[in-house]
Amino acid sequence: MNASFDPPHRILMGPGPSDVHPRVLAAMARSTIGHLDPAFVAIMDSVKAMLRYAFRTSNDVTFAISGPGSTGMEACFVNLLEPGEKAIVCVNGAFGGRMKENVERCGAVPVIVNDEWGRAVDPTKVATAIKANPDAKALAFVHAETSTGVRSEAAELCRMAQNAGMLTIVDVVTSLGGISVEVDGWGVDAAYGGSQKCLSCPPGLSPVTFGPRALARVKARKTKVQSWFLDLNLVTAYWGGEGNRTYHHTAPVNALFALHEALAMLREEGLDTAIARHAACHAELVEALAAIGLRLPIDSNIRLPQLNLVSIPDGVADAPIRKAMLDQFGLEIGGGLGSFAGKVWRIGLMGQSASRRHVALCAAALRAVLP
Ligand SMILES: *Cc1c(COP(=O)(O)O)cnc(C)c1O
Repeated sequence: MNASFDPPHRILMGPGPSDVHPRVLAAMARSTIGHLDPAFVAIMDSVKAMLRYAFRTSNDVTFAISGPGSTGMEACFVNLLEPGEKAIVCVNGAFGGRMKENVERCGAVPVIVNDEWGRAVDPTKVATAIKANPDAKALAFVHAETSTGVRSEAAELCRMAQNAGMLTIVDVVTSLGGISVEVDGWGVDAAYGGSQKCLSCPPGLSPVTFGPRALARVKARKTKVQSWFLDLNLVTAYWGGEGNRTYHHTAPVNALFALHEALAMLREEGLDTAIARHAACHAELVEALAAIGLRLPIDSNIRLPQLNLVSIPDGVADAPIRKAMLDQFGLEIGGGLGSFAGKVWRIGLMGQSASRRHVALCAAALRAVLP
């Protein structure tokens, strides 16, 4: 017989999940109700309205996919690309690489714009790719690359795609709620986020938004969307259809209670205030790390405040330090990925983990465990 599971209490300062506020955990523990209960239908509408606020959009089709950020990514590609079509994909880290995988698995053809890990997507290279591939249907890029802590110039990239008549698919998993995301302001056609990064919810939901040009593309498809579960035509009849919701799948009821509460907290604080808080905590972290001789390898112009790469000093081992942080302080930070593996730590200041308390704890713990 297994006893019930009581997880250790952690301080989450890795690349996600971030710390979840007790209000959000309490919301998740409320009574499960039917997913077609009128009370649940009301909360779905409320989640949609608050997601529009977070994405800064008036897009009607704005909701949460039942699945992690990766399902939001997949939803964008499977709905917007048909077999044989071309899409320009910018790869400057791990998640750009996954976009390429998605394009290929749709039977579409990725045109890759490569940038070194640790650099932003280069708009000049994108311009060249657009010019060489005027028949491409979409431009896809990651706004905030969690593998490298780099922000790319979303507004400029979207403008270039629009001028060429291409749709934009933008990964805002790590940016949403942490830095400015302007879906309408930038003219983004499709974007996907994640619940467990700067929104500070438990993992498992992916907020998405689709604009009118993206929806027109879905309507005009000649082939069926190859994923039944992620087919927008079906899922929007469930999330859309005001007063007339039809069963598609059983929404994760309690997970949506949590997202609702987290978004309500974001509304109370105000998106601009939350973004300023992330920036202020980042500045404090940089100072605190400098005081113990640690530096950040990413250029300050393109650094993400919510995801900080920190160079591991020469002669210091990566994994034992992270283990000591976890064992002695219950504090989780992330390791490096790809070309940064073993060379950096990744310190997240996402959502509830973007606080002065977190910064001070992390710096003190690092000071204590470093040789
Ligand atoms: C975390 C992350 C994802 C994937 O989200 P999951 O919830 O882990 O599936 C996608 N893109 C970026 C930029 C991320 O940081």
